[in-house]
Amino acid sequence: MKHNFGAGPCILPQEVFQEASQAVIDFNNTGLSILEISHRSKEFEEVVKETEQLVKELLNVPMGYSILFLQGGASQQFAMVPLNLLPENGKAAYLDTGVWATKAAKEAKKIGQVEIVASSGDQNYSYIPKNYQIPSDASYFHFTSNNTIYGTEVFEKPQTSVPTVVDMSSDILSRSIDVSQYDLIYAGAQKNMGPAGVTLVIIKDDLFHKSGRTLPSIFDYEAHAKAGSMYNTPPVFSIFVSMLNLRWLKAKGGVEAIEQENIIKARILYDEIDRNPFFKGTAAVEDRSRMNVTFVMDTPELEAEFLALAKERNLVGIKGHRSVGGFRASIYNALTISSINALVDTMREFEENHQ
Ligand code: PMP
Repeated sequence: MKHNFGAGPCILPQEVFQEASQAVIDFNNTGLSILEISHRSKEFEEVVKETEQLVKELLNVPMGYSILFLQGGASQQFAMVPLNLLPENGKAAYLDTGVWATKAAKEAKKIGQVEIVASSGDQNYSYIPKNYQIPSDASYFHFTSNNTIYGTEVFEKPQTSVPTVVDMSSDILSRSIDVSQYDLIYAGAQKNMGPAGVTLVIIKDDLFHKSGRTLPSIFDYEAHAKAGSMYNTPPVFSIFVSMLNLRWLKAKGGVEAIEQENIIKARILYDEIDRNPFFKGTAAVEDRSRMNVTFVMDTPELEAEFLALAKERNLVGIKGHRSVGGFRASIYNALTISSINALVDTMREFEENHQ
């Protein structure tokens, strides 16, 4: 058995893979594959409805929000957010916490004026900036709740009176959030929601057409909302597998229950990183992510040796992103405590080998 610590696309529960593969052969005893049915069929309409209902239930989405299943990844949202929310003469505020936040701001700049309210670029994004000012005349404030590459996470929504947009690609559904505090939440599915190919958007309906721009319909949130995510052919299989995964999460006790597990998993791993003299964490302790755990070695020459041992022990995907180096263990919802223990055991074994 492999322990998959990949950052995304990433581990999903085994039972989801099994059910998904069955549906590729025969979907709900229809004698047809999920891959060949019409997206307009009654059967698939039920899938979209249930997926939407599960998102609503698991995240307690209040009235007045639309739940959309779009394509183009979180990267398409980097453009759709300003196209829909930023008026010609408006200004958007962005918090710069790393590659994805920077890219989001860079795309917004092609559309209008952007103010970077704070950045942790001075220390290779190893912390979350605090005590910055968000201009009250901004059309919206954008931040990234979990920085997949650097292993930092924003646990408290920054306080501001302006509409708040958050990229939750790598921590959505991993912990409870109060959706009513946000105006727009988006997330590429390929971490905790499902396979790549679908992007979740939860948008407050009063944001539709906020920018006053004339938009091609494919980039217009309202066009997708009006069509119930069927403005064009949706990513049928990705939505279906997301539904299976959300069912799994609900059966496990939902977001509140998985959050408790995620807290324990992260604690076990960070405790070992702090204890083991060969390793050290790269993120500021108070901003440590519960999803992506980044760490390096005091002696970088030994890193290749640890990676080789990890491979022997069936640990997959722990090489760090090139901009941080070292290691990154992504410990998403579907990764079990036994996989965490396998990594911790390997770190101890490495320590013993070098006594
Ligand atoms: N935002 C975050 C926080 C991410 O982790 C990623 C991808 N890893 C992206 C945005 C980009 O997502 P996509 O590839 O779906 O466009």
